[in-house]
Amino acid sequence: MSMFEDIPVDVGVIYEGERIRRNNMQVELGGPKQPAKFELVRAKKMDEVEDEKVTVIGPDLKDLPEGGNVPFGIYIEVAGKDIEEDLEGVTERRIHEYLNFIEGIMHLNQRYDIWIRVSKKSFQKGLNSFTYLGKVLARLYKSELPFIEKIQITFITDPAKVKEMYDQAAEIYEARDAKARGMKDEEVDTFYGCTLCQSFAPTHMCVITPQRYSNCGSISWFDGRASAQVDPKGPVFAINKGDLLDAEKGEFSGINETIKQKTLGSVDRVWMYTGFGYPHTSCGCFEAMAFYIPEVEGYGIVDRGFNGVTVNGLPFSTLADSGAGGRQVDGFHGIAIEYMRSPKFLQADGGWDRVVWMPQSVKDRVKEFMPKEAIANVATENDVKTVDELTTFLKEKSHPVVQRWKEATVEAAPATEGEEALDGIAFPVSTATVAAGGFKIIFINAKIHAEKVIIKRDKPKR
Ligand code: SF4
Repeated sequence: MSMFEDIPVDVGVIYEGERIRRNNMQVELGGPKQPAKFELVRAKKMDEVEDEKVTVIGPDLKDLPEGGNVPFGIYIEVAGKDIEEDLEGVTERRIHEYLNFIEGIMHLNQRYDIWIRVSKKSFQKGLNSFTYLGKVLARLYKSELPFIEKIQITFITDPAKVKEMYDQAAEIYEARDAKARGMKDEEVDTFYGCTLCQSFAPTHMCVITPQRYSNCGSISWFDGRASAQVDPKGPVFAINKGDLLDAEKGEFSGINETIKQKTLGSVDRVWMYTGFGYPHTSCGCFEAMAFYIPEVEGYGIVDRGFNGVTVNGLPFSTLADSGAGGRQVDGFHGIAIEYMRSPKFLQADGGWDRVVWMPQSVKDRVKEFMPKEAIANVATENDVKTVDELTTFLKEKSHPVVQRWKEATVEAAPATEGEEALDGIAFPVSTATVAAGGFKIIFINAKIHAEKVIIKRDKPKR
């Protein structure tokens, strides 16, 4: 008998990645329209957990309005002799994987960002109670993570209860994040890798260090260590740092070797502290996207919760698509909010001196960790709406990026017809591709000095 014989829909890895469009959804739980939503795992004592008990606080699935959107929380309590608090983060991250195994369930994101849809088709097949979701979760957890001996699961749709527990969850997330603050990457020999997102982004591997949090913002270095100890062959594993190859960019031989092996050679080099060259890969679960704005030579940062358009006119979804999928795309860099609190944050690109725009809500969250000048220098949607306005803002604030523009200022020399000659210029380029004679030369983070640059208009061949 199958483990899921009593579940009205199929359960299996083939349903991971299933997308449920608005027209096909029975109900939406959490998501961008709900300010309060959460998923939380807590480690408990054996006698505090009633094994496989599932509770629903508020209306059950069948009583929720068709096509509606409701506040939502998932609270899971686990117990076992090897369970410790540091295992909460990785255990919690598995909710994403396991719920996505259920036919007709789409689960996105993590922690306070969760967004779940239930399909009409699965609802009509009988998936009309959270009890089924609880049964699947309990059985998968116990079969996949043997350190879990007892588990009880609560689903919450009652708005007041969601809000109350969301506030408590926020404090717990903050305490987890704060634990690694103050530690340095230089102080440890081991980093941790995570390949949980490879089902969506096959060439992605998160490298989790004390000073670079996992992209999804839900697995810290401590969480990685605890997980790798109890389940070393699982998707979270130890990485021996190896040799330090570049301190500024954050290149380590151990990371390069591991990612090469874990991505079957697709990615063989990673620079941890930059969004250019060989940046850390971006899956699709990152909390925020750092996006380069070439006009001002600085980074904008936008998080998943920002509903408007950014200063370059694009929303989070478009910018996220530009870098997602396990790729290393220059200037599109998936990050966790916690990484913004790290002294290694975009270190090789200039750190906070290179950040020019972010939503006010993100600024409020990380303000305490920003250099004083940056708090005034980084614009938000309340200061500027366009790149032109941003340019004026940055000049007025004498933002450090303005110095870069000065370096690029050139004295124009007389040009002949159809040509433009620029004498004695020095301009920094983040990435430039020059194609000539069948070769492509790519300059990354280069500063090019030239006695003369000739720009010729290409005459179309007749
Ligand atoms: S974003 Fe990274 S750490 Fe988080 S689940 Fe995906 S691979 Fe793991």
